[in-house]
Amino acid sequence: MDPEPPHVLIFPLPLQGPINSMLKLAELLCLSGDLHVTFLVTDHIRGRLLHHTNIQTYFSRYPGFDLASISDGLPENHPRLGDQLTEMFDALEAVTKPLFREMLVSGEMGSGSRRPPVTCVIADGILGFTIDVAKEIGIPVICLRTISPCFLWIIFCLPKLIEAGEIPFKDNDLDAPIKSVPGMEDFLRRRDLPSFCRSGNLTDRIFKRYLMESKQVSRADGLILNSFEDLEGPLLSHIRTLCPNLYTIGPLHAHLKSRLAIQNLPSSFSSTSFRKEDRSCLEWLDQQPYKSVIYVSFGSLATMTGDQLMEFWHGLVNSGERFLWVIRPDSVVGKNWESYISEELREGSKGRAYIVGWAPQEEVLSHKSVAAFFTHCGWNSILESIYEGVPMICWPYFVDQQVNSRFVGEVWKLGLDMKDTCDRFVIEKMVRDLMEERRDEFERSADHMANLARQSVSEDGVSRRNLDRLIEDVRSLSLQGSHIQSPN
Ligand code: UDP
Repeated sequence: MDPEPPHVLIFPLPLQGPINSMLKLAELLCLSGDLHVTFLVTDHIRGRLLHHTNIQTYFSRYPGFDLASISDGLPENHPRLGDQLTEMFDALEAVTKPLFREMLVSGEMGSGSRRPPVTCVIADGILGFTIDVAKEIGIPVICLRTISPCFLWIIFCLPKLIEAGEIPFKDNDLDAPIKSVPGMEDFLRRRDLPSFCRSGNLTDRIFKRYLMESKQVSRADGLILNSFEDLEGPLLSHIRTLCPNLYTIGPLHAHLKSRLAIQNLPSSFSSTSFRKEDRSCLEWLDQQPYKSVIYVSFGSLATMTGDQLMEFWHGLVNSGERFLWVIRPDSVVGKNWESYISEELREGSKGRAYIVGWAPQEEVLSHKSVAAFFTHCGWNSILESIYEGVPMICWPYFVDQQVNSRFVGEVWKLGLDMKDTCDRFVIEKMVRDLMEERRDEFERSADHMANLARQSVSEDGVSRRNLDRLIEDVRSLSLQGSHIQSPN
């Protein structure tokens, strides 16, 4: 009798950024032909995907694909945003973990269709319980981290930072250098460390979760990173000392585009957004001069105060540049953001500004009128910007964004880092610097990096070869149900 076909279950962290990149991986695996792929999301996310995207009709072209869902243990009206994300992690551990176990043991994915048993799990590495469950049942498990490798390396070094007495901080000087992260000794400061290091509380639940991460991830059969070797080569060598079986297959969104183009398949997928996209901004962009607009967006989770909103508004308007700004309805704490903007302020930006609640970001960044990106430095946003060769101004919010912005400004020279300030004069100056004064310099480095990103996902690129190796390993792991040898 022929063995059952390999069946990969992909379990992303239930947030917009991770879903975006892991759904792209799911499609890349479907394109390999013989794999069954179950994309497991929470009931909450499933509802949003079905409401805002054409996921079901689009993926019906892949007979091996299935969308399944599981409870995240939270009430439907929970915001699943900002500070309240800790509650989501707790609920996933308490409620979702046993359900996930039951699902794998019974083979019942709840989607109604008959599926072969799961032979390999690919889960977000921060969901440590997925590794526990897969190991207990004897299913091979590969982790995927959708955050930046530079952040991941800092996380792996947390025990060293504690041992060296560099965290908790001994005083309030956030510019003090950090020396215990190999490869970053020359430029890392306290303010560039993950935001949760600032609390000084090493017993904090978030801190403890990340402290465990290197131990958890190194138990998996491999680690997939959404990055490419030319961007972070030296750091990746450090990560390999703990996770030798590393698959750098990014940028995933570009990888999928390239693969679909090679196979001559159109992508009619609307998007992976859980929110209604306002596509009118593309028409507005069509009417703007070539490379004249700065796109402003702080992702799906960051929030700001009304005062910060006003600083941004004044800074952007006073810069004299055109801007397209994504202000999510839930992005300003407390009040509706429109109540902060007077008629006079609106007048000041008339004709030069366009505001939407959610944009088709990948299309915006590839638009010929877009010259720069004011970003919170979420990892997907950075990769999307790098791929399109768009320089950035960084205003990081939390988690990996503090170190990502340091890399953008200091290591890759792809833009300016504005972290820890929100002042209209600084904003105005940075926008002018990026759009005018230092424009050539940033455009040159952005073009160079965009070319490297494109090469990495081309037919003979390193990310492409790594994806092929991942698919081969998934097949052989599925057959063996056991560990594989690391490539080194
Ligand atoms: N995004 C989008 N429209 C918007 C803002 C964001 O489609 O108006 C997408 C963006 O392209 C990216 C994701 O949402 O893929 C945000 O992920 P990221 O890692 O940048 O930040 P997060 O939202 O996780 O903080």
